[in-house]
Amino acid sequence: MKRIERVELPSPSAGTRRELVFHRYGGPGAAPKAYIQASLHADETPAMLVAHHLVRALDAADGAGQILGEIVVLPAANPIGLDQEVAGSHLGRHDLASGANFNRHWPDLTQDAARLLEARLGPDERANERMVRAALAEAACALEARGALGHLKRAIVERAADAAIVLDLHCDAEAVLYFYLSRAIEDWRAGEDLLRHTGARLALLTEDPGGGSFDDTMSATWRKLAERFGAQIPIPRGCLAATLEYRGQSDVRDEEARADAENLVRFLAGRGVLSGGADAPQARGRAIALEAVDIVRAPHAGILVMARALGAMVASGETIAELVDPGDPEAPRTKLSSRTAGMLFSHARDRLVRPGAAIAKVAGTEPLPGRAGYLLDD
Ligand SMILES: [Zn+2]
Repeated sequence: MKRIERVELPSPSAGTRRELVFHRYGGPGAAPKAYIQASLHADETPAMLVAHHLVRALDAADGAGQILGEIVVLPAANPIGLDQEVAGSHLGRHDLASGANFNRHWPDLTQDAARLLEARLGPDERANERMVRAALAEAACALEARGALGHLKRAIVERAADAAIVLDLHCDAEAVLYFYLSRAIEDWRAGEDLLRHTGARLALLTEDPGGGSFDDTMSATWRKLAERFGAQIPIPRGCLAATLEYRGQSDVRDEEARADAENLVRFLAGRGVLSGGADAPQARGRAIALEAVDIVRAPHAGILVMARALGAMVASGETIAELVDPGDPEAPRTKLSSRTAGMLFSHARDRLVRPGAAIAKVAGTEPLPGRAGYLLDD
């Protein structure tokens, strides 16, 4: 039976209040558990519309007795960011109070969970998996939280830490549908069903891209615990975590979002979270290492004029965009190109760009020289 759980965050000031509203399906502890949230970056509206349709679809599935595992959905993950307006513009990517990107520096539960697990794990992988889930949940509840953002993160981690599937629904500026999967490229078939069911054009694979994003933190804990306890203590990769980019910020369309939500339900059914799982369709996209994505940047300020459309296959060195100097009609335009051949899958939405701004992303096939260390774009 569905349950609504409301978690109040510390009031930002007297007379106002904020809350997180979790939609919970299935019995607590039923497996597998899926945790899904939308718009952690609060100005990424398409994700909330997908979550809206997902909740409606899950309500129907719940009414039909089809929920087998446990599902927690947070359709509006960031009431702090939803509240941020500056001179008529909504700004939801960074916390205006601290400047922090809302999807960075999520708490790493590895050390606290390891302390709880010390001398309790053994040679049985299934038993270890159960103990790790319980330890992660316990460690999450013991997290210290400061301020509204700290409490928001703890409330989310408490409900996500023991999940087998974590889906963080976002969007890009202007983009095709793609997702980040917290896995090494050698291991990508672990998430192939997500690529098939969502119809995404790309799965970008990465392990430890830096920055402590929510999905990577949830997934990496399992890898770190397995490394810490060694080969004699088998610990599975117990959490499939992905950040799904539901196209661009203006791609808010009811029919599309409903179809995206239905695809997520089919993915969950395929994983045994709901009954009625069917074969996944053919993948529309492919998986590549995040190191094979070239981020094209503006060398100077100007008006960005795209020369190629989203989804186009472009050649290395081909002009994909030009920068126009608005002050000098005679000035030559600066031509921008990618270092790799591949799909132009994302580009800027704001067309008045500053020096160093990321203006486009092209997905190649081979890791690019110099693409190492911190791989995310802030
Ligand atoms: Zn985002």
